[in-house]
Amino acid sequence: MTFAEIGLSPEILQSITESGFETPTPIQEKSIPLILNTENDIKALAQTGTGKTAAFGLPLLEMIEKGVDSVQAIILCPTRELCLQITRDLENFAKYRKWARITPVYGGANIVDQLRKLKSGTEIVVGTPGRVNDLIKRKALRLENTRWMILDEADEMLTMGFKEEIETIIASTPETRRTILFSATMPKDIARLASKYMHDEIEVKAGGSNTTASNVTHLYHMVHEKHRYQVLKRIVDMVPDVYGIVFCRTRQDCKNIADKLMADGYNADALHGDLTQAQRDYVMNRFRTKSLQLLVATDVAARGIDVNNLTHVINYNLPEDPEAYIHRSGRTGRAGKTGISYSIINMKESGKLRSIEKLAKTKFELVPVPNGNEICEKQLMHLIDKVKAVDIEGAHIEPFLPAIYEKLESLDREQLIQHFVSAEFNRFSSYYQNAPDLNVSKKDRKVVDTQLNGDFTRLFINAGRNQNLEVTTVIQLVNRTSRKKVTIGKIDLQRNFSFFEVPTEIAEQVIKKLTGYQFEGNKLEVGVAEGAPKQRTRKKKDGFRRDGQSGGRRNGNSSQGRNRDRSRGDRRRR
Ligand code: AMP
Repeated sequence: MTFAEIGLSPEILQSITESGFETPTPIQEKSIPLILNTENDIKALAQTGTGKTAAFGLPLLEMIEKGVDSVQAIILCPTRELCLQITRDLENFAKYRKWARITPVYGGANIVDQLRKLKSGTEIVVGTPGRVNDLIKRKALRLENTRWMILDEADEMLTMGFKEEIETIIASTPETRRTILFSATMPKDIARLASKYMHDEIEVKAGGSNTTASNVTHLYHMVHEKHRYQVLKRIVDMVPDVYGIVFCRTRQDCKNIADKLMADGYNADALHGDLTQAQRDYVMNRFRTKSLQLLVATDVAARGIDVNNLTHVINYNLPEDPEAYIHRSGRTGRAGKTGISYSIINMKESGKLRSIEKLAKTKFELVPVPNGNEICEKQLMHLIDKVKAVDIEGAHIEPFLPAIYEKLESLDREQLIQHFVSAEFNRFSSYYQNAPDLNVSKKDRKVVDTQLNGDFTRLFINAGRNQNLEVTTVIQLVNRTSRKKVTIGKIDLQRNFSFFEVPTEIAEQVIKKLTGYQFEGNKLEVGVAEGAPKQRTRKKKDGFRRDGQSGGRRNGNSSQGRNRDRSRGDRRRR
């Protein structure tokens, strides 16, 4: 289907062509005819990057009427950035319908300017719920003649706590309005909102909800927590022309990482909620124009960023909410391009990775952290390509050349190449000389995998060899808790406590039945072992050493000596 076949008028078609859109995206193909040709409300499941702004924006511009002296459409969205983005897109689409005035209103900006603009008249208002509400209260924004109410990224608006504001805004529009709701996910509170305020709604979907874009590759590095930042640098160094977003969970992380990157000479800056609007604009502008290669951002701050040609999304840490990963990775691979989403995870975070895989119906691929040699080779070749492609005509160096030739006279071709390349490259190569392997050892990874394959849960018990606990006694104790014979996984006996694995489906039962059980004069405590093996050991007040070390030995042979050696070795390395 073409845009013309969808039934848009020539002046709108002209602006679409000039925007570079050739064919409608699936969500546009489904939504535009419905909005144009029916009276129904519409609930659309679409993620950012699917072309949803045009999906509602084009038919809206088609249907608004000239010369009506009141607001005809109100578009609500979660962030200021998205608000400005929608306004920019609509203004582009309305290039040949200049009479259609579009006014963005959002918090954190001078309200006086916005009041003035509203007063001078507008057909469409695009706003964030807080500011729209404020303007309604001041009677500067009147919605009694509004014909269209559009809720964009409705799930995000509810997550951000805008429910009350949205309801107040809807209440100030007439019952006869048409409501069009776009959301990347359809949680229960969206369904509730829809059933309360929408009439005869038709649901449209483009692609699966809760799934990541098919043109994004999801890779991850498994590393020790202390290496997270170094690994980020290696990812970036491996892609000299990287243009991407580094996602952090908190503002503080975001600031720290951006500061460190800048101090280390990377072309990076931070985008988070603590910045003033002017600072945010400045950073975004530099990023949009590619003067900035890396934007270090929190999830909320990155909402609504519309940059299409990102090469990478890097998850410095995985988001708390698996759904946020879908939004993050959807920042790359947009408008038909391919993209890569890297995640840096520590051994405790594998579970989180699996929940994302499950929710997003996608598979992450574990890839090794590049070593110093690989990075140097990549950088060096990039440098050579850059040197080869450089525009020597534009350099205007002719007047200086005779003196330069004279100075370099003693060097032959090979030596010249070596000197120039080394001058550029020495700092880099010395950083990576003898750079350590930052990958988690295969052995540690195997332990994590076993724990995470879903079959076994690793439990902690407050008895060990000193309390006469043996492998056979563990088996006997566990088998007491079940009528059927239990398959037990790894048993890891330590001096005053131990770990053992049981099938996940009976883990709760084992914990319940063994907790409080008297064993060799001790009251047993059993619980799920916390996370993956830790490197450090720590003396607890009760004298139990909770080191979480997993030797995984089945027999009673002491692995103590070797474990002690290993922790000493670790300390030395640190
Ligand atoms: P959106 O989901 O509205 O944020 O759009 C994502 C990006 O896709 C925006 O940069 C749009 O300019 C672009 N886009 C939207 N519709 C089309 C289309 N039909 N063809 C090509 N690009 C599009």
